[in-house]
Amino acid sequence: SIESQFDLAIDLIKNSKNIGIASHVSPDGDNIGSILALGNALEKINKKVFILKTDDIPKDFLFLPGISKIIDYEDNMEIDLFITLDTSDEDRLGKNRILLDKIENVVNIDHHISNTNFGDINIVNSNAAATGELVYELIKKIGIIIDKDIASCIYTSISSDTGSFMYDNTTSETHEIAAELIKTGIDKSNININLYQSRSIEKTKLFIKILETLKFHYDNQVGIIKVTQEMLNNSNAKMEDTEGIISFIREISSIEVAILLKEIEEEEIKVSMRSKRYADVAEICANFNGGGHIRAAGCTINEPIATAEHLVLEQMKKVF
Ligand code: 5GP
Ligand code: MN
Ligand code: MN
Repeated sequence: SIESQFDLAIDLIKNSKNIGIASHVSPDGDNIGSILALGNALEKINKKVFILKTDDIPKDFLFLPGISKIIDYEDNMEIDLFITLDTSDEDRLGKNRILLDKIENVVNIDHHISNTNFGDINIVNSNAAATGELVYELIKKIGIIIDKDIASCIYTSISSDTGSFMYDNTTSETHEIAAELIKTGIDKSNININLYQSRSIEKTKLFIKILETLKFHYDNQVGIIKVTQEMLNNSNAKMEDTEGIISFIREISSIEVAILLKEIEEEEIKVSMRSKRYADVAEICANFNGGGHIRAAGCTINEPIATAEHLVLEQMKKVF
């Protein structure tokens, strides 16, 4: 049971000295928030914590307490416990994947329905709106007091993965946890401004370009947008600057499924999908070896962008 997995994880944490915590590739708010929350918390019980970088940190999160502690893995760290957060499968660990073999004990804490239970201990609950909720529970169970810094990180996690407490995954428990976090005195307004009202002008200009690619399919129920390397080069923006644009497409009244195609390389297309009421995009993405959640999922297609677009739209026939 999940309770026994919590107990086993807590025993391991208590018996470990050097603990590594890793993010997933293209880290998001839930991921960065939960690694920093757990890292900050474990330092309070005198653990040597290595918060390991997997990819560049989006600028939006640089305000979070402990962000400068995120570092690259080095061989001399002598980590005895490796905790992965918000990571559905081994590939999502990117360059830190090798640590699964190097480090004796692995605890996998996640909320993806597609999680492969690759850890020695797996605290996986797809009913949690964010990995941050599971980290909250773990920290409480260890007996660490959640201070303002830890609370700011968890609040960021949960707010990010629930679309500011709006998506279907938001539960009464999500709000109960948020209430406890707010009681610690976090600066909610500052967090919200950093997360939702700090878009750069370059990013905004890139959004305008991407929106020009919008096409509708299946009676306007599917909307698809694209970003190519050429568009990035022409706009002084980075691929991470596409974060958030897919929500704008889902917000269109007729849309059930929003799709974003990101050209990482000529034949490497990262696909993001979002749904509104009923389509299971995790299932659709599983056809391309991807996964995620019912309302937010992704995959990678190793084809040119036009082929990827065609393949993805073909799969939509199963829904519409
Ligand atoms: P995003 O579209 O923001 O990249 O990802 C949305 C959700 O789908 C996230 O929860 C993410 O973990 C999951 N996801 C995105 N890409 C992949 C993928 O290639 N494989 C798997 N298993 N999950 C993915
Ligand atoms: Mn994530
Ligand atoms: Mn998440």
